[in-house]
Amino acid sequence: TLILGLESSCDETAAALVTDGRDILAHRLLGQEAAHTPYGGVVPEIAARAHVEALTPLVEATLADAGKTLDDVDAIAATAGPGLIGGVMVGLVTAKALALAANKPLIAVNHLEGHALSPRLAAPDLAFPYLLLLVSGGHCQLLLVEGVGRYRRLATTIDDAAGEAFDKTAKLLGLGFPGGPAVERAARDGNPKVVPLPRPLVGTADPHFSFAGLKSAVGRARDAGTWRAEDIAASFQQAVVDCLVDRTDRAIKSVRFERSRETRLDDMPSPLLDFARSERDGVTALVVAGGVAANGAIRSALQALAAEHGLPFVAPPLWLCTDNAAMIAWAGAERFAAGLTDALDTPARARWPLDPGAAPARGAGV
Ligand code: ATP
Ligand code: MG
Ligand code: FE
Repeated sequence: TLILGLESSCDETAAALVTDGRDILAHRLLGQEAAHTPYGGVVPEIAARAHVEALTPLVEATLADAGKTLDDVDAIAATAGPGLIGGVMVGLVTAKALALAANKPLIAVNHLEGHALSPRLAAPDLAFPYLLLLVSGGHCQLLLVEGVGRYRRLATTIDDAAGEAFDKTAKLLGLGFPGGPAVERAARDGNPKVVPLPRPLVGTADPHFSFAGLKSAVGRARDAGTWRAEDIAASFQQAVVDCLVDRTDRAIKSVRFERSRETRLDDMPSPLLDFARSERDGVTALVVAGGVAANGAIRSALQALAAEHGLPFVAPPLWLCTDNAAMIAWAGAERFAAGLTDALDTPARARWPLDPGAAPARGAGV
């Protein structure tokens, strides 16, 4: 099975061809950094126009790279949300047009599902259920990934996302855009212990996150004029690491607590059986995904945490962490294998939670 995937939900235009056997036949990505840099952040209207210009030639080039035509493709997957609505519409409408023209099924992929399943593209042995820390530009969540389309949100941020905190910190310190890699680079030459910064929500019962206060503290540290930007960057990164590790540790413990409750599988009706098994067995691995998962300090801290709990640790290669179309094609392949395709009138969605049943985290855990 061969899936064409399109991604256009933020400021990366991307296309990829991926098989259900995890072969990435081709993948292309066009960043728009130069267009947005003068504004210090992504401008939605500029992004949407850039996607319009870039996407069709990019799809043609991707097919050519792999020596394939649309006829060779079994289904066309595109990000249908969440994200900047103009860009999402460009990708989804393009996928619909291709699907209609080539008479192929459409698969409307949730961008977060792309991130959530991307570790399985790189790690064939990664089985459900796994505990996922999804850390990206717009999200910071702990999810129990129980299967394709089955996500249970254990925690989320009550204010900013982790990537957003990196981007705002970079802006405050004048390190440039996008912020994550710039902060990580500066942090290498800084002392992570020298600037006193808060660890919001650390130690609270529910594993939720909060980063707004940390960002404000970075602003005050800068205004104090006492510390080098490198030291602030390193101390900020350490604070984020401490928050992510504490919250993830809390989530592992709560999943394990549920598991330890007595569960009798024998007389359980079958629809409940899978769920009960996952409760009994806990999780197969600790997994991290999303753009912030490209951060080296975060990866090694989570790896150590997993080892402490005797869990395997899985993180996708760096290029699969930040936005790309291979993860969308792969999520498409997983959904296609599960018989999940979508109608051509499927709408683009600016907001689209992975776990619609999850309660909002406002004020939770405080
Ligand atoms: P979402 O996936 O929530 O819709 P997005 O698609 O814009 O948001 P991603 O592309 O998944 O986000 O991730 C981008 C984010 O990752 C940015 O906030 C960026 O600063 C951050 N990031 C990228 N590389 C690193 C790094 N090395 N260290 C820390 N943060 C990073
Ligand atoms: Mg981006
Ligand atoms: Fe993303």
